[in-house]
Amino acid sequence: MTTTFATSLLAWFDAHGRHDLPWQASLQPYPVWVSEIMLQQTQVATVIPYFNRFMARFDTVVDLANADLDEVLSLWTGLGYYARARNLHKTARLIRDQYQGEFPNTLPELNALPGIGRSTAGAIAAICFGVHAPILDGNVKRVLARAFLIDGWPGQGETAAKLWAQAETLTPTLRVGDYTQAIMDLGATLCTRSQPKCEQCPVRTHCLAYAEGSTDAYPGKKPKRVKPTRKTHMLIVKTLAGRFRLSRRPEQGIWGGLYCFPEIEEDALPSALDSVPASPVRLPQLTHSFTHFHLIIEPVLLVVADEQQIPSLAEDIWITPDEQDRYGLCRPAQILLNQGH
Ligand code: SF4
Repeated sequence: MTTTFATSLLAWFDAHGRHDLPWQASLQPYPVWVSEIMLQQTQVATVIPYFNRFMARFDTVVDLANADLDEVLSLWTGLGYYARARNLHKTARLIRDQYQGEFPNTLPELNALPGIGRSTAGAIAAICFGVHAPILDGNVKRVLARAFLIDGWPGQGETAAKLWAQAETLTPTLRVGDYTQAIMDLGATLCTRSQPKCEQCPVRTHCLAYAEGSTDAYPGKKPKRVKPTRKTHMLIVKTLAGRFRLSRRPEQGIWGGLYCFPEIEEDALPSALDSVPASPVRLPQLTHSFTHFHLIIEPVLLVVADEQQIPSLAEDIWITPDEQDRYGLCRPAQILLNQGH
């Protein structure tokens, strides 16, 4: 069955789509596969010279399989994401050794090859073998999320499942290869990330985001990771003369090598306080944010008569707030010293 969506898209592709990209010359699996892998994280204009050099050197998949990995990587230099080149080489060898140098033509066999995910397998199967297989690359996700108001970030399982189901419904049985190229083209040229050219779009009468003016809201953005929170106590020991004890942090870990008030976990707090001849005063908590977590610090102040009243380590220092610039202090220690306790 061909939906009206597919019919409109195919008519546009015939008249306005790109038909002269180097890998479209023969639509054989080897060049289509190489182009699909190169295009995974890279724009068409960047890919073209790389593709041409690659195909000039490795004429067939068996030539690629017979080459040294170093040579493959050197032709990839500048494209980035080198795992793609390593997988390309591995797959070429599998095709040479297990498939007598001929690409398999079923979706499961293609999908099982290194570096070939469901969408790339679908593209090769549809374009080269006419298999009724949907694709869902980044461009297609954007088109479908907008046209059918599919909420959520496409990297999330539930959203991806809805997009795949929609892709499956729309993919026609006739002219499946052209449809596959057409929907990729639409996403790359008209339904662009910002400022899509909706006025020229062949499927705008089907597009729900266009109808309600919400194209900017689709596809949904990747949710920001909520940083975990960790709690700790800092033991602030101060003498009657106004000197504070600071301990040196281990070289490894947060605030490595800096001076800080010693950290104590909640469970260890009672025994730590037990041995000190002073009444603990809990001070207001402060939060320090790191790249990967927030640290909530609950400071506990102990005022002792002098430095002998509490055991110290050899590396500990006793300073007044005025002397803090002479030492490397962690940020919470600076804040707490400057609070005037
Ligand atoms: S109408 Fe606009 S937003 Fe909708 S599919 Fe076309 S280009 Fe994309």
